[in-house]
Amino acid sequence: MSDDFLTQLRRVNTERYDVWARQPMMLCEHCGKDRPSADDSGYNNFCSPPFDKQEHRFTRPHPYLTVSNDAGIMFDALELGGEVGELLNVVKKLEREQRGWRGSRAAPEDFADECGDVLICLDKLARRMGVDLAEATARKFNATSEKVGLPHRLATSAEPNSEIGEGCHGE
Ligand SMILES: [Mg+2]
Ligand SMILES: [Zn+2]
Repeated sequence: MSDDFLTQLRRVNTERYDVWARQPMMLCEHCGKDRPSADDSGYNNFCSPPFDKQEHRFTRPHPYLTVSNDAGIMFDALELGGEVGELLNVVKKLEREQRGWRGSRAAPEDFADECGDVLICLDKLARRMGVDLAEATARKFNATSEKVGLPHRLATSAEPNSEIGEGCHGE
């Protein structure tokens, strides 16, 4: 049986983060430059002067960033804030286009991308406190429905949907 989506996100997100956090940062044995990230398009594979022109060899572990890159809950919180900012920036650009104002533009795919980033980072942050996102979201959503007297309820796998019957009041 396959995981539901949020369970899968938590599991794979955790696995990927653990690999990344344990991966030592490797430096070029000739020039000491660190390995470029995959999206660094302007990067070239050769050592720059005053080093000999030769291909980098990333064989030397960074002197102190070798044990763990895990910066903890504070970093995850900042990262989530950053992604929310990126999402809002896309909304700003879409709104700007809507109004016919000058400035840089964003595409609808950028909006979807940033929504994804927010969920990924929210999962990382929630994991720090052992929060199950599906369970927490259902509980809060249902509490709000209860408060405003509407029958709409979310179900989680742990707790079968009790939408019909108990708990329904209002209107
Ligand atoms: Mg982003
Ligand atoms: Zn080099």
